[in-house]
Amino acid sequence: MAHDVHIIGGGLAGSEAAWQLAQAGLKVRLSEMRGASEDKGGEMTPAHQTDGLAELVCSNSFRSDDSDKNAVGLLHDEMRRLDSIVMRAGEKARVPAGSAMAVDRDVFSAEVERTLSNHPNVEIVRERVDTLPDAGLTIVATGALTARTLAESIVQATGEDRLAFFDAIAPIVHRDSIDMDICWVQSRWNKRTEASNAEGDYINCPMTKEQYYAFHQGLMDGEKTEFREWEKDTPYFDGCMPIEVMASRGVETLRFGPMKPVGLDNPRDTTPEFPQGRWPYAVVQLRQDNKLGTLWNMVGFQTKLKHGAQVELFRTIPGLENAEFARLGGLHRNTFLNSPEVLDRQLRLKAAPHIRFAGQVTGCEGYVESSAIGLVCGMMVAAELAGERWEGPPRTTALGALLSHITGDAEADSFQPMNVNFGLFPPLHEVKKKQRKEAYTDRAKAEFGAWLSALERVPA
Ligand SMILES: Cc1cc2nc3c(=O)[nH]c(=O)nc-3n(C[C@H](O)[C@H](O)[C@H](O)COP(=O)(O)OP(=O)(O)OC[C@H]3O[C@@H](n4cnc5c(N)ncnc54)[C@H](O)[C@@H]3O)c2cc1C
Repeated sequence: MAHDVHIIGGGLAGSEAAWQLAQAGLKVRLSEMRGASEDKGGEMTPAHQTDGLAELVCSNSFRSDDSDKNAVGLLHDEMRRLDSIVMRAGEKARVPAGSAMAVDRDVFSAEVERTLSNHPNVEIVRERVDTLPDAGLTIVATGALTARTLAESIVQATGEDRLAFFDAIAPIVHRDSIDMDICWVQSRWNKRTEASNAEGDYINCPMTKEQYYAFHQGLMDGEKTEFREWEKDTPYFDGCMPIEVMASRGVETLRFGPMKPVGLDNPRDTTPEFPQGRWPYAVVQLRQDNKLGTLWNMVGFQTKLKHGAQVELFRTIPGLENAEFARLGGLHRNTFLNSPEVLDRQLRLKAAPHIRFAGQVTGCEGYVESSAIGLVCGMMVAAELAGERWEGPPRTTALGALLSHITGDAEADSFQPMNVNFGLFPPLHEVKKKQRKEAYTDRAKAEFGAWLSALERVPA
């Protein structure tokens, strides 16, 4: 079948993009390497177990389905309003899970595959694609475990250091949950660049010797997650060592690494000799993570500690007692682009604009987020082929916030995969903290509705 768009990768994002395009009347070739014969490069990823489309590789949950108080629940709602195949199939495969949305993974995958196979505009081709096509509208949705050959081709197109093979995520904290009566803003030695904030670039959390030693012990004792078999020979240890591994090299090691206190004058600890403030014994530094300044990441704190252990330990850090985490630390195998740098606002590769990327490979994180980016990518291509000007969803919506983050609002230097969360939304400081979640979702729903009706008015 001659096609209008070639989609590489029949996971969540690729399936969602294929559905959106097919429903818009466009012919799609959907290439999936799982299930292909040997001469077509048939290959499994280390995580997938079947050759079904949209296989869920780990948990069977799409997380919260509460669209009034939860950012991912809000994203569900927006996807439903855009006729998402993932949400449709998810409903059919739904199993009881309280306020979360969980699915029977086999029913779910079979439903996506059945729907797409039966669609007259979709041709599912079992083949591995090894190079980025030179021409023709293409969506690359090959996920966290993109086949090696294609990854090499992507590196050639984007540059050596624009495609990561592992994520090394330090925890990210909501700015308004940091106690600024304890912490202060300053760059080490007050160093500035043109991009610097007025007061300095880091939020500093000071530690006494006793606090530091207790914290070090906590890192040693905290429960860690094990590497999967295929993650064990990870090459990131040189550049991105987990904090607990560094800590295990000696009790003082961190004070010469990410917890180094030199050049940081604590203004709440002044003496006549040090009127600007003394250096603390150790310090935890947070650096701005998004342009809105609502999210800050804990510098050098990538970790394999279990999530519960991270929350417990990191809340013992002075100033972070009430920290709310937009995401916790982790280290995984994960192929993803430095999207804020290499993609434009429409997910097009700046160096080769006939190619778009969608799903986890763009640096969003999670089943729902990956599907949502696949969905919106499909809509963008459909608009382009219809000769329509694309107006994306507003930043105040879950889809718009996530899309803006990965296509330019995130800091490119520290870019790591991100779940949808309210820290990505333009802040509502004027609303009381307790009412903020509802305020975010109310605003999002209203503005999403307005965007959708404007979109529907555009002639097909
Ligand atoms: C081990 C693991 C566990 C995860 N667990 C969770 C979880 O519990 N919850 C959660 O929300 N998220 C989880 N994620 C993150 C993420 O949501 C999933 O990776 C999700 O499947 C991403 O969707 P996607 O469509 O971008 O990629 P995928 O669903 O992985 O789809 C990519 C598809 O592309 C195919 N492909 C790859 N290369 C080629 C090629 N060259 N040619 C043709 N086809 C190709 C693959 O076979 C695959 O089918 C996990 C990720 C990993 C790696």
